Amino acid sequence: TVRTRVAPSPTGDPHVGTAYIALFNYAFAKSQGGEFILRIEDTDRTRSTRESEAAILESLKWTGLSWDEGPDIGGPAGPYRQSDRIDIYQKYAQQLVDEGKAFYCFATADELAQMRAEQTAAGVQPHYDGRGLKLSEAQIKAHLDAGDPYVIRMKIPESGSFKFNDYLRGEVEIPWEQVDMQVLLKTDGYPTYFLANVVDDHLMGITHIFRGEEWLNSAPKLIKLYEDFGWQAPQLGHMPLLRNPDKSKLSKRKNPTSILYYQKMGFLPQALLNYLGRMGWSMPDGREKFSLEEMVESFDMKRVSLGGPVFDVDKLKWLNGLWIREELNDEQLADELHKWAYNRETLMKIIPQVKTRMEVFSDLAPIAAHFVSGIPEYDPALLLHKLSEEQFREGMQFFIWELEALREWNKDNIFVIAKAIADYLEVKVKDFLEPVFVAITGKTSSTSVVDAMEILGPDMSRARLRVALQ
Ligand code: ATP
Ligand code: GLU
Repeated sequence: TVRTRVAPSPTGDPHVGTAYIALFNYAFAKSQGGEFILRIEDTDRTRSTRESEAAILESLKWTGLSWDEGPDIGGPAGPYRQSDRIDIYQKYAQQLVDEGKAFYCFATADELAQMRAEQTAAGVQPHYDGRGLKLSEAQIKAHLDAGDPYVIRMKIPESGSFKFNDYLRGEVEIPWEQVDMQVLLKTDGYPTYFLANVVDDHLMGITHIFRGEEWLNSAPKLIKLYEDFGWQAPQLGHMPLLRNPDKSKLSKRKNPTSILYYQKMGFLPQALLNYLGRMGWSMPDGREKFSLEEMVESFDMKRVSLGGPVFDVDKLKWLNGLWIREELNDEQLADELHKWAYNRETLMKIIPQVKTRMEVFSDLAPIAAHFVSGIPEYDPALLLHKLSEEQFREGMQFFIWELEALREWNKDNIFVIAKAIADYLEVKVKDFLEPVFVAITGKTSSTSVVDAMEILGPDMSRARLRVALQ
């Protein structure tokens, strides 16, 4: 049976690119009567978090995609989280060393830094020079006996070139001299992406891998590893990356990239999947609106076109409008609105904010509009009442960066950041918060802005701040 997977790394907000790649792997598997698996690739210990993993699972579920096996539901090839599989990778790394296909390297960080400095001084592009390969058996044994830290690296042919048949691109050729002797196992005993990815795709019976174009250059190492293990490699296909309307790679600086933003903004998940399905693909009859089931029914991977698809939020909005009008009756729309924000839970967060300023119930909508709107509209001159343009730009940029790194999203932490930036700009925190206020609420006076940001959550708050900076 056909088995595909999506293998996100839980290192940040759930990316629409992850949903896009998941969708195509899902559609391919399901159109072939196959299975689709979700695996968490969390071998980067410093950047991976459980919060990010939970957000990825939750937001992929929200899109309407489902998987046959995964960390949340288990399955016969589990565990499906790489940090729970470390001993497996160590065993396979050792196997490659024993068979002469990989080697130990005991070089310290200082030695490697010196190596690179010498290469640079000699006008050579810095690269690992293969020093581990020159160690004698006795030297290796002495290092191991002394308990010296080591990495395991893969052997790479010195000349010739690597060729493989990309499922979407046809023959791809990459000279081996462009490929480094990749570290497979790090000094802390954790695998790198390459080792863990190959071992897992093999053990999990993956037959086809569709992933972003940015991984194309890693194909030689992956396929070489399959050969070294004596395993049949899955078919690899590299999907075009999503682009901003100006054709650059989709980036959060220019477009919201977090799935949670689209949820907060009030898009229908069916419309988002529909739109992602149109990224490089189209229905045979050219129809613009189609459901996941319809996409699966008509799916043909060979119809993917490689020109970078533009993710245009205005087009997505237009499609979302079609979905609302054509697919939801009034009862269903009422249910969706309730699920989205017009529910008691959300109201209970907003009420303490508006109660103190309210004289009659009809004040609710004007006072609380920013809690249920998207990006507010205002005169940009309002942003510069208390700060110079330079202070505003610098302060806001730092603010956004700090908020992106903020682990625990609450008003106290947000205020601490705002205060630090105000101190840095040598302005009163009140003055720094004024443009923040405008960006978040669209008004010059309203309820507390840090409270509002806590309630709005990170995705919507940061999106509004980014728009203010544009
Ligand atoms: P940004 O540039 O917005 O910070 P990023 O490149 O840092 O995004 P990552 O965290 O590296 O995003 O990627 C998260 C996931 O989203 C990865 O699986 C990656 O392949 C996918 N992804 C990122 N950018 C794109 C894109 N433009 N098109 C398709 N998938 C993407
Ligand atoms: N963990 C990688 C990512 O986040 C997976 C790449 C692949 O599909 O092989 O993109």
